Amino acid sequence: MSKAKTADQLFKKIVPVVKKAKTFVLTTHVNPDGDGLGSEIGMATFLKSLKKKVRIINTSPTPRQFGYLNAQNEIETYDAAKHDKIIAEADIIFILDISVSKRLDRMQEAVMKSAAIRICIDHHLDNDECAKYLCIDAGAPATAELIFMFIKYMKGKLNYKIAQALYTSLLTDTGGFRFNSTRPSTHAIAGEFLKLGVKPNDIYSEAFEKGSPAVLKLLGRLLERIKSECGGGFNWAYLTTKDFSDTDTLRSDTDGFVDYTLKLDNSMMGVLAYQTEDGIKFSLRSKGDVNVQAFAKTYGGGGHKNASGLTFKNVPFDETLKKIIGELADYYNKSYAKKK
Ligand code: 5GP
Ligand code: MN
Repeated sequence: MSKAKTADQLFKKIVPVVKKAKTFVLTTHVNPDGDGLGSEIGMATFLKSLKKKVRIINTSPTPRQFGYLNAQNEIETYDAAKHDKIIAEADIIFILDISVSKRLDRMQEAVMKSAAIRICIDHHLDNDECAKYLCIDAGAPATAELIFMFIKYMKGKLNYKIAQALYTSLLTDTGGFRFNSTRPSTHAIAGEFLKLGVKPNDIYSEAFEKGSPAVLKLLGRLLERIKSECGGGFNWAYLTTKDFSDTDTLRSDTDGFVDYTLKLDNSMMGVLAYQTEDGIKFSLRSKGDVNVQAFAKTYGGGGHKNASGLTFKNVPFDETLKKIIGELADYYNKSYAKKK
C-alpha cells in the first residue's frame, strides 16, 4: 500500500484559492454513486458554512436510493439553458470523485470551457488535465475521506449533515468497509461521524434496504444468467433494455448487482454488462491481485484495481458483449488463471 498523502500535500495550494472565491459549482461523474453524491453534499454544506454560494450540478439525476442525501433538493440535474451561465461564471468548480473530464459526459464542454478555477478531489488511478489543481490520493478508499481531511485542514466544523453524507460515501465505496482499500484512517473517520450522531444501521438501511419488488425481479434475471468462465474464476451476467422495461426499473437500480458475480467460490473476477440507449456499460470487479483497471484502461475506461467501469457508445450490444467477455476471459486466463 502506498503511503497515504497528508492534508498538507493535498490541499496546501488550494486553501488560499478557496478562501478567496465566492461562487462554487460542485460536480461529479456521470451515473453518480454514493461517494460522488456524499462528497458533494459534505463539501457543499461545509462551503455554505463559510457563506460561499454553492450549486451542485450533475450530468445524471440522483439515483433514488440516494434521495435521502438530497432531502433539501440541493442537487440539480444539468440543463444547458439553465446552468451554462452559472458554470461559466463560477469562481471555482470542484470536480469530485473523478479526474478525467470525459466522465463529466454532457457537462464536459461547459465545465472545461468555463473561466472558473477547476479543482479536482479524487481517488481514482487515471487522471488527465481536467483541473488546475489535482488533489488526488489513489490510496484513499473514497473521495469522502479526502473531503473530511480538507474540512479538518480548513479548520471547519463538522455537523450531522456532513457526517451523514460522508459516512454514506465511506460505506458505499468500501463495500461496507470490506475492501482492502479501507485503511486505519477510514475507520477513525467513520468513528468521528458516529460521534456526530450517525447510526450505522440508519445509513445502511437508506442506502441498501430501500429496494422494491421490481428491483429484486431485475436482480432475479441477472442471477439466473450468471455464467462461469475460466474454471469458475471469472463470472459474468448481462441485462438488456428489455429487462429494464419488463421490470419497470432503471439502469441506476443495478447499483451493487455486480457484487453477486464475486459471491461464488473461487470467483476472482466478476462482470455485469448492461445495455444502454446507444451501447453498453460494463462494471468490472475483482479480488486480490486481479487488476480490472488495467483491462478497462485499454478501452478508455478506468476506476480502481478491483473496481472499474467501461462504457461504449454507438456500438451494437450483442457483438460488443461477446467480444469484451471473450477478451476478459483471455485476459484472466493469461494473467491470473495459474496463480489462483
Ligand atoms: P461502476 O462499475 O460501479 O460504475 O464503477 C466502478 C468504478 O469504475 C468507479 O470508480 C467508477 O468511477 C469507474 N467507472 C465506471 N464506469 C467508468 C467508465 O466508463 N470510465 C471510467 N474511466 N471509469 C469508470
Ligand atoms: Mn469514489
